[in-house]
Amino acid sequence: MSRYWSPFVHGLDPYVPGEQPRIDKLIKLNTNENPYGPSPRALEAIRNAADDTLRLYPDPQASDLRAALATHHGVEPEQVFVGNGSDEVLAHIFQGLLKHDRPLWMPDITYSFYPAYCGLYGIDFEPVPLDPDFRIRAHDYLPREDARAGGIIFANPNAPTGHALPLNEIEQIVRTNPQCVVVIDEAYVDFGAESAATLVERYANLVAVQTFSKSRSLAGLRIGYAIAQEHLIQWLERVKNCFNSYPLDHFAIAAGVASIHDTEWFNDVCARVINNRETLAKNLRELGFEVLPSAANFVFVRHPERDAAELNEALRERAILVRHFAKLRIDQHLRISVGTDEECAALVHALKEILG
Ligand SMILES: *Cc1c(COP(=O)(O)O)cnc(C)c1O
Repeated sequence: MSRYWSPFVHGLDPYVPGEQPRIDKLIKLNTNENPYGPSPRALEAIRNAADDTLRLYPDPQASDLRAALATHHGVEPEQVFVGNGSDEVLAHIFQGLLKHDRPLWMPDITYSFYPAYCGLYGIDFEPVPLDPDFRIRAHDYLPREDARAGGIIFANPNAPTGHALPLNEIEQIVRTNPQCVVVIDEAYVDFGAESAATLVERYANLVAVQTFSKSRSLAGLRIGYAIAQEHLIQWLERVKNCFNSYPLDHFAIAAGVASIHDTEWFNDVCARVINNRETLAKNLRELGFEVLPSAANFVFVRHPERDAAELNEALRERAILVRHFAKLRIDQHLRISVGTDEECAALVHALKEILG
């Protein structure tokens, strides 16, 4: 029945999210969700929002949430754009800011949704190889005599490596590429990296993207946002208003505001995840794994003597899910989300058995 498809659909290569199976007692370390659950104040806000006003459309500007985020980041509400998860925010950025004659530059190993958006919007891109230690090198992104980017995007910390680029190196990339927009996807920034949102005031070509899915433990609610100078946010609003007037519902707006206001809960949860990450990394090294230094809520590991796909399967048989990417350069690695201390201990125990 593909004769009914619009022709360009034949060539699409969709992103494949980590699975969400319904299995009892599953230890789920495959999609970088936060094991500790959202702020109780966010949950209360959702209960309070479940009233008669649900018959009304939500605020198309999500003004309350944008105001709360603006205060949180020390910017103006006009410098904040919100969407249905940062995936949607990124989609509008790709379409509205990154499609140019010159190709978009991105790391060869990064969030695999980026190439999917390039396919969807017909954006030409050029992969820039990470160094042998899986790090982004800032100087690979500086304009050259023979090559200048039409746009630049990478995640910081990068996914699935966990590597964080220092802010001064990010600034160097932004400063030396005034001809194009530079997008920093900060999905994991709260677990140990520095946000580029603080640079937005000084650079007209910078966009920082964040999400409530990881550090704020609200992946199921779908809230993401971008921070940039007002002229860029206005372009994103144009794209958004040609696509969906109400990307955030009543619950997302209410819970988002409450979550931003609950600083104590937020700091506590981030500290617990970071603490578990360091213990997990140490325990995995003791089992012989090479563990890349991580500034995120996951670790990227490889065992020098064991095939990653086989380890992945052996864990799955024990109802433990981690993520394996059958992709060039990283097919011998596993990405393991940081769980609760009990989940991490169960993982280490299972690996000990599997390794014999
Ligand atoms: C999880 C993730 C996102 C998507 O987050 P949502 O806000 O849940 O859509 C974006 N970028 C990276 C690098 C991620 O890992």
